[in-house]
Amino acid sequence: MFTPLKYYVPAKGEGMGRLQAVFERFYALRIWQQACIVTLGAAVGADALTLILYSIFFSDRLMLDLILTAVITVLVAYPIAYVFLSKTATVAKLAAELDKAATTDYLTELCNRRNFMQQAGAFIGEADASAGVVLFIDVDHFKLINDRFGHAEGDRVLVLVAEAIRQSVRVDDICARIGGEEFAVFMPGADLPLARTVSERIALSCRLVGCTAHPEELSTTVSIGVAMHRPEQTLDEVVREADFLLYRAKRGGRDQVMYRAPHEVVA
Ligand code: GH3
Ligand code: MG
Ligand code: MG
Repeated sequence: MFTPLKYYVPAKGEGMGRLQAVFERFYALRIWQQACIVTLGAAVGADALTLILYSIFFSDRLMLDLILTAVITVLVAYPIAYVFLSKTATVAKLAAELDKAATTDYLTELCNRRNFMQQAGAFIGEADASAGVVLFIDVDHFKLINDRFGHAEGDRVLVLVAEAIRQSVRVDDICARIGGEEFAVFMPGADLPLARTVSERIALSCRLVGCTAHPEELSTTVSIGVAMHRPEQTLDEVVREADFLLYRAKRGGRDQVMYRAPHEVVA
């Protein structure tokens, strides 16, 4: 029976992916190592051309000219490659720094608001059902911390609260500082019982920040609004709902987690 030959067909973009991987390994090397590889390539290329041309026209001087060509190429190519590759490395480093500055909160190193909205928006845009849960977290009476212990201590507390939040969520959850002492978490695919567990863990970890901090009488409770995304909601709507529930937690006396009541339509 005739069996058709099976060819290996690379997946779309696979070839580019391998080339990309080669470039990534190359750029991970030190500049002098990169320059050596480029110089070696140039010398081998120049000698190959010399070999072809001279074997046709001047075969008697071939060995000497091969050596001379290689030496000249190394002398010319190495400094040029070194300068060019160091500039490329500087540009790549600046691009990475710019990317980080545009997406990360400078103080806590969590996502910034824009990055949070982009990432959570991508989940909500793709979802046919509920995309997950949004938590809105606000440190209670934070102004008092600044007023009593100074702005620097306030900053230190914000960093510790951010770390407490990061430690309390799952690895795939998106944590952000979206304003002064306000944080948000998007939990992709989560339901309310899971969000409740995580919110309570966050509340407890944040309280511990104050208990272990110096000065000792510093209090770091948080209020949290929890909104589960409904399929017809946009990101703005679910975020507004979480914000509204947070406001309700504040009015209810702070230091608490607030959910939408069953079947309640909020905001
Ligand atoms: P509430 O319980 O109602 O949330 O009260 P609050 O004092 O936490 O809220 P309020 O909005 O009155 O004050 C927030 C304070 O957060 C005021 C502002 O000075 C401070 N803040 C905002 N950004 C920063 C920051 O980056 N570092 C520090 N140290 N403080 C900040
Ligand atoms: Mg506050
Ligand atoms: Mg606030």
